[in-house]
Amino acid sequence: MQTPNILIVEDEVVTRTTLKSLFEAEGYGVFEAENGDQMHDVFGSNNVDLVIMDINLPGKNGLILAREVRDKKNVGLIFLTGRDNDVDRILGLEIGADDYLTKPFNPRELTIRARNLLARTASNADDEDLPSKVSFNGWTLDGDSRSLISPSGKEFRLPRSEFRALHLFLSHPGKILTREQLILEMTGRELRPNDRTVDVTIRRIRKHFESEEGGEDLIVTIHGEGYRFCGEVD
Ligand code: CA
Repeated sequence: MQTPNILIVEDEVVTRTTLKSLFEAEGYGVFEAENGDQMHDVFGSNNVDLVIMDINLPGKNGLILAREVRDKKNVGLIFLTGRDNDVDRILGLEIGADDYLTKPFNPRELTIRARNLLARTASNADDEDLPSKVSFNGWTLDGDSRSLISPSGKEFRLPRSEFRALHLFLSHPGKILTREQLILEMTGRELRPNDRTVDVTIRRIRKHFESEEGGEDLIVTIHGEGYRFCGEVD
């Protein structure tokens, strides 16, 4: 793999420069953007593997920009949120961020997260045990376009976290998957205390399923243990 490129979207100069030096010291290519326009300029002429984005930005905020980033299929996304801002964290994950970190954050923690997430992006080896299209109960998960297609033909483009979680379920139909297993598959990291990442992602996947009759029971909660996929893989 080539040196991964990281794009930092942050209007605060001190934070942005600190992050730049931090990741450059780790050997990454680093781009900076102060706002959405600059972010799109960087995307226009460079390969970006991972975006680290502050939510609180002038003009379009990070939550709006995240939707725009989500159209770029292979980009990882880590949000930086204000302290104790649960709403932002959950919204960020619902939009499809892969992970989030609360300010003030530990720089070492951020570099570890970034490395784990990039490793998830780069390794497609574990995708090879499933064909690129998997069908179950009339639904299809398409690995090429990373989308979920409903029995009536509705198409949901999935953020990587949702795709990976669903992929793991389809590889283990009928088995209980723990939050630990799911978070590792989704982000390459361990579960943290009060971590909402898995639950928010499952809620998102269920919402797609609930758009069609019979879809609401495809993923069931096993209290105190995790989640189980109850569909039948063709
Ligand atoms: Ca800011």
